[in-house]
Amino acid sequence: MHVRRKLVVGNWKMNGNRAALAELIPIAAAAREAAGVDVGICPPFTLIPLAVSRAGGAVAIGGQDCHASASGAHTGNVSAAMLVEAGAKLVIVGHSERRADQGETDVLVRAKAAAALAAGLRTIVCVGEVEEERIAGSHVEKVLYQLEHSLPELAAEAELVVAYEPIWAIGTGRTATCGDAAEMHRAIRESLVDRFGDAGGRVRILYGGSCNATNAAELFAVEDVDGGLVGGASLTAAQFVPIVEAAARS
Ligand code: PEP
Repeated sequence: MHVRRKLVVGNWKMNGNRAALAELIPIAAAAREAAGVDVGICPPFTLIPLAVSRAGGAVAIGGQDCHASASGAHTGNVSAAMLVEAGAKLVIVGHSERRADQGETDVLVRAKAAAALAAGLRTIVCVGEVEEERIAGSHVEKVLYQLEHSLPELAAEAELVVAYEPIWAIGTGRTATCGDAAEMHRAIRESLVDRFGDAGGRVRILYGGSCNATNAAELFAVEDVDGGLVGGASLTAAQFVPIVEAAARS
């Protein structure tokens, strides 16, 4: 039986500016108070160094993507090593918006995750089904397939995190029920343990998809829900801090 610290990560997507970094002051204060919870915020790339200095170490700052290569002719991209140099401690890869908007495949996500882990970043790999797959009853099969093909091999010191994000719940105000989350997180855990053995029991599995101050506590109480990946409700401390507090109570 592994005791996993809760992890709550905000994904600002293409939102925020220098002024918005003021939100990090109360978020960092809440993170310092929240025993047993790790807190992260992933702002746009341009804000990472400033965010690192505002967060003062209490909040891990991360990127929302990285390239699979260390450097090279890849206009517009940022490597894992560059994120590390900017002060990032974590990165999200394979977010459904990138899979949809940039056509990212499982194979590419796996290469990005491998590069991020090798660079020493806590690496959050996102998986999740579309609504049609859930209605058809193929949601678990779909997510386990994505997991199998998106996750790289795991070195002992690497810190892999999986985020289960049902695509129909992202930014829609609709949330998975606790039963939905329990079914999927259990299946993900079994798959991780099958593949990685004991290390699979240490991987944190986050829930993402319209997680907010109202539903966080019940979601975080579900077995194998080790925290949340939060989009819209991470943009202000007023909305994000109660989610961190819910994680601390769970
Ligand atoms: C996300 O995009 O990772 C996400 C969970 O968004 P939201 O919380 O806004 O649904």
